[in-house]
Parts: sequence; C-alpha cells; structure tokens
Amino acid sequence: MEKYSQVANLIKEKGNVIAFTGAGISVESGIPAFRGAQGLWEKYDPEEYAHINSFVSEPAKIWRMLREMIKLTFDAHPSPAHLALGTLEKAGFLKAVITQNVDGLHQEAGNTNIIEYHGNLRNLVCLKCRKKIPLAQEVLTVMPYPTCDRCNKAMKPDGVFFGEQIPISAIEAAHEAVENCKIIMIIGTSGVVYPAAEVPFQAASRGAAVVEINLDPTPFTSAVTQYFLEGSASQVLPRIIGELGLRPSDTQP
Ligand code: NAD
Ligand code: ZN
Repeated sequence: MEKYSQVANLIKEKGNVIAFTGAGISVESGIPAFRGAQGLWEKYDPEEYAHINSFVSEPAKIWRMLREMIKLTFDAHPSPAHLALGTLEKAGFLKAVITQNVDGLHQEAGNTNIIEYHGNLRNLVCLKCRKKIPLAQEVLTVMPYPTCDRCNKAMKPDGVFFGEQIPISAIEAAHEAVENCKIIMIIGTSGVVYPAAEVPFQAASRGAAVVEINLDPTPFTSAVTQYFLEGSASQVLPRIIGELGLRPSDTQP
C-alpha cells in the first residue's frame, strides 16, 4: 500500500525516530490492554484495581490481580511488533522508545534506550521507606502479599498506578527524546492516560512528523496524526521494516 512506502521513505529521509508505545503493542504477546476489557480486565476493572488508593486500602485484594498480571508478563515474549522496533534501532533509525508499558518486552526485543514512563515490574517497592527488592517469581507464592522487612507494610510493584507521580527521570528523558526527534510513531495506545498522552502532542508541536499505528482511531488521530496505519502493530511494523529493505533475520534480538 502507498502509505507504507511513504512512511518508509519518510524514515529514510528524516531518520531520528522515536516510538511512543502502549498496551496494544503487547496484546499479541498475551498481555491484554486495559481498553477492550479482555482477559483479566474482564474480572478486574483497571480504574479500580490499578488505582493507588485501592492498593493502600486493600492490598490483599489488589495483589490477587497483580499475581495474575505479573505471571502473564513473566510468561510473555516479544511480539513481531516489539522485534521490529529492535530492528529499527539496530538499523540506526530508532533513537528511543517511550513506553507506558510495564512488561519489559522492549528490553527483550533488543532496544536499549527505553524510557519507562509508568515504571516497570522488575522491582517491588515499600511505599513507606522506599526500600526496593527485585520482583522474583517466588513473590507470587507469598500470601496474602509480600511485605517490607523493615516496616511490615505491603510491597507494591514499581509500576506507576493511577493517582501516582510519574518518575521525574522518565519525564526528563522523554522531554529530551522529543526535543531531538524528527518522527514519532504512536503505537497501540488509546491516548487517554495523562500526562503520558502529552508526549505525542509535544513532539508534533516541535515539528515532528506523526505516524500512528492502531486498530482504531484515537484522540491523536484527528489532532496530530499525519499517517494513520490501521491494523495490528504486529502486522504493520514488520511491513514497514520490509519496505525499508531490512532483512527478517534482523528482527531477532
Ligand atoms: P489502553 O489499554 O488504554 O489502549 C490500548 C490501545 O491499543 C487501544 O487504542 C487499542 O485500540 C490498541 N490496540 C489493541 N490491540 C492492538 C494491536 N494488536 N495493535 C495495535 N493497537 C492495538 O492502553 P494504553 O494507552 O497503554 O493505556 C493503558 C495504561 O495501562 C498504560 O499506562 C499502560 O502502561 C497500562 N497497561 C500496561 C500493560 C503492559 O505493560 N503490557 C497492559 C495493560 C495496561
Ligand atoms: Zn519499608
């Protein structure tokens, strides 16, 4: 299709691409997105279960959801979309991935400059004394939830819950990536979670070309998107890689 070659030409001409990713890029890795209410989100309303107030007041209840989410991410492998972004970095085009995801799959796909806007599931943190410990598989067997050995309080995965602050280091790194980019690719995000959703608008206002990949239009689509590639990220991104003349073997990390 015409649009694919246009996007590939744009990437060749301008280089300096950044990706802004959301839960949609990990759906084909077996981790359901919030919007669409599939899998575990049919049982657990994210607005409630991923809110910090719920965690503080009822940690045992929230840990029932967390054990399932953590298990899904431990079992997940990068999708063709994640791997395509790895290839795009190796080929020198992609300079940073700003992700709202907490699943660590961009790292597994070989990307190296990953800005985790909403933290990650690699560590547990104590909300009282801020002690961090690695989030290991064994944690999933601790009932009703893992506690801090200093304060005896419930430990929380180091992902950002609704109602929590974005890590300042992520805000700064995202700002720098946006300043320098010529193209932003918005991939698999509904664009309704703030302040993360400001990132594409900032890039657009600095003159970056905006490419968006999603199954459906989002608030970005009519506002800033110049090239909307409708479809699954795991189909669309490998096609772009193909148009750029990169070999499929390059898609291995
Ligand atoms: P979202 O759930 O609000 O929206 C998902 C978006 O992805 C939708 O626009 C949907 O149309 C699109 N989508 C679904 N499948 C797709 C596919 N195969 N290819 C392309 N697009 C697809 O996700 P969000 O915008 O990232 O916001 C939700 C918040 O929840 C984020 O903070 C995110 O970190 C968190 N979350 C993370 C994970 C994860 O780490 N994998 C999973 C669920 C939720
Ligand atoms: Zn503590």
